[in-house]
This record gives sequence, C-alpha cells and structure tokens, in this order.
Amino acid sequence: LAPDTIDPADVLHRVFGFAEFRGVQEQVVRRTLDRQSTLAVMPTGAGKSLCYQLSALLLDGTCIVISPLIALMHDQLRAANAVGIRAATLTSADNNRAETIERLQSGALDLLYVAPERASTADFQRLLAETKVALFAIDEAHCVSEWGHDFRPDYRLLRPLMDEFPNVPRLALTATADAHTREDIAQQLGIPASGTIVSGFDRPNIRYAVTNTASKGSAIASAIRGWPGAGIVYATTRDRAEKLAALIARTGRRTRYYHAGMEPSARASAQAEFVASEDMVMVATVAFGMGIDKPDVRFVAHAGIPKSIEAYYQESGRAGRDGDPAVAHLFWSPGDFSLARERLKEQPEARQLAEKARIDALSSLVETPGCRRAVLLRHFGEDPPAQCGNCDNCLDAPGVVDATEVAQKLLSA
Ligand code: ADP
Ligand code: MG
Repeated sequence: LAPDTIDPADVLHRVFGFAEFRGVQEQVVRRTLDRQSTLAVMPTGAGKSLCYQLSALLLDGTCIVISPLIALMHDQLRAANAVGIRAATLTSADNNRAETIERLQSGALDLLYVAPERASTADFQRLLAETKVALFAIDEAHCVSEWGHDFRPDYRLLRPLMDEFPNVPRLALTATADAHTREDIAQQLGIPASGTIVSGFDRPNIRYAVTNTASKGSAIASAIRGWPGAGIVYATTRDRAEKLAALIARTGRRTRYYHAGMEPSARASAQAEFVASEDMVMVATVAFGMGIDKPDVRFVAHAGIPKSIEAYYQESGRAGRDGDPAVAHLFWSPGDFSLARERLKEQPEARQLAEKARIDALSSLVETPGCRRAVLLRHFGEDPPAQCGNCDNCLDAPGVVDATEVAQKLLSA
C-alpha cells in the first residue's frame, strides 16, 4: 500500500474502529508517513500506540517497536492482534522465536516488539540487516534520558543501531518530559529538535485534591464512601497495600490488592477482576497500572507521595480516560517528604539535582494555596490559567460553590 494512495483516516475507521483522530495523533502519523523523525510527547491515555501502529500498516516493511517491559509488550501484542495487525514479540519469554524471525524476514510482520537490551545485540543487528525496516518506534522514550524519571542505560544503545538505517524514520513516544528532558531525548535518539510535537497535558475531567493527614488509611477509607465506580488506591509498600485493602474492605466495598510480591496468577486474576468491575477498589503498589486498559477508572487515590511529579501525573492519569468526571486525591504527611529527601542521598550524584527538582515540584503541588492543576501543568512547560475551577483549592476559593461537595457534606453530616 502506497501511503499517498491510502487515507490514514480510512485505516483509523476500518482497522481500529475509531471515528476520529485524537489530539495530535494525525499530525504525528503524517510526519511518520512522510518519513520524518518525531518525538511525540502526549499524555497518558492519549493514544500513543495508535501513532506507530497505524503508520506501520501504511508503510512498507516492519515497524520495530522498542518497549521497556515484557508485560507491556504482551499487552500491546494482544491489542494489536485483536484488530488484525500482524505483530509479534521477541523476548526471552517467547518460545516461538524461530517462527517470529521467519515471519520478520519474509515481510509478514507489521510490528515487532523488542526490549532495548535485545535490540542492541549483534545478533539482532544482523537480523535487521536482512529485514525491511519501515520505522523505529521508541515507546517510553524518556528512559533514554538521564534527566528523565526512569533512566534505562540500554536505551542509549538504540542510537547506534538506528544510525545503521539512516533512511528509516524514528518515532519516539513519551507521556512525561519537561522541556529539558525533551531536548535531551531528541538529541540522544538523533531526532531533530524541530521534530518534537507536544500535545496538551491537561486532563480537565480529573478533579485534583490533596489532604495533609497523619492517618491516611482512615482518611481514604472514609473518602471512598463518597466515590462511586471503580478506583485505584496507591500505597507505598506491599505491606501497606495489604493492610489498607483490609481497612477499606471493612467499609463494605469490594476490594482487592496487587503488588509485585504476589504469585503471577494471583496478580493476573486480581487485575482481570478489576478491569471487569464497575465498583471495585484496587489497592496497589506502583507495580499496578502500566498497560492496563480500563478507561472507566473513576478515582485514583494516593496514600503517601509518589516518586516524583511525573509519577503522580502518570498514576493519577489512569483516572477518567473515558473523559467522564474522575477524582485524583493525594493523601500525604510531611514525613513523606523527609523520607524522599533522605532517599535522594542514595542516588548517584549526577541524578540528584534532577530528582530533587521532581520532589520539590511535588511539594509545591501539595502545599500550594493556589490551583493544583496549574502547578502540574507548569511543570510540563504549559502556561495554564491561574484557576482551573476543578481542584480543591479552586473550588474552595471565595465565590465558587461546588454543588457535589455541598451535597456530600450534607450526606455525611
Ligand atoms: P498511551 O500509550 O498514550 O497512554 P494508549 O496507546 O494505550 O495510550 O491508548 C489509550 C486508549 O485510547 C486505548 O484504549 C486506545 O484504543 C484508545 N484510543 C487511541 N486512539 C484513539 C482514538 N483516535 N479514538 C478513540 N480511542 C482511541
Ligand atoms: Mg503507551
């Protein structure tokens, strides 16, 4: 299929079943089809995968997708196969590697998912030399930057690999990167600075709120009574997740917990139950959430501060992906920050400054008397209005009456 004879919107409808492109998707796809390299910075849930999946269907050859986690790759693979995209993963967990290589070399794959450490091996380079490569898609591209919040040294090895294919476009995708990190990502991956596309970070349907409390557990258990629908509560340790789940279960709400210390089968069943549920509370560590496709999460609460403001944006961003009203409520106490600053000292010196800035940004988010959304958006380089009208501080500001909160206060009185 020659890109100029096929309309991307047509593929969007027929293959993916979507009515319209969202946000900057179309712009990103157009650049890619024109074989221009791009760094796309798009919020969580914006539909980054579609950008390379759709491009892969229109370009001649296979799109090599770099992804940092096997679990994430397998989720993506299922989703791609479900709409009829010819996709495969090449990981240590796959026992069909010979078949995958054969499909790759015979041009029978639209997408091949690999981890950066495999992509950078000599074996893989030899394999690619015999493959028609259409596109390099680098998912979670912030991992390439030491300034990013999740540096993965293996991402640095991608550049030499891609440089072997000077005519193959690159599409780097990330949800969270401040201006400094963006420049670094583009440079590390050999993408021209002019190839960066940043879409808005605002999630207007999410209502942000923050509570400073020494008893986070009971504060959350009681707040949850006012939150209908399914939601996630993030705890800072496995042990706390289990205890908090027990506490919330006592309120009569259907509750499960999830953390990396559980048997894989127990994790999978807890996750499946949550995805199918309309009212369950999932109490989890940060191990939960990446790659989970549940658009109707109605609330995300944090019992204690997350790792950084980027992490907060990503975790709270799992609420309300369907665009309907949702709540993101962070419960914290000053001790959380002392601990985070203590841990900072264990980081390599080169990273301390960047990490400190992330903790400081988080601390302005919780301490600001002004708009929470404004603090969040400014961190990502946007210039938001002073008041959003949909966070606790804006709603408490003089002259603003929030009907739902008034109703809730009456009900709980
Ligand atoms: P991201 O990687 O940016 O966090 P995903 O690629 O996982 O987001 O997509 C999030 C959800 O949005 C998926 O369920 C996907 O099918 C859906 N989606 C993507 N593009 C569109 C679109 N144009 N219209 C409607 N839904 C879309
Ligand atoms: Mg993604």
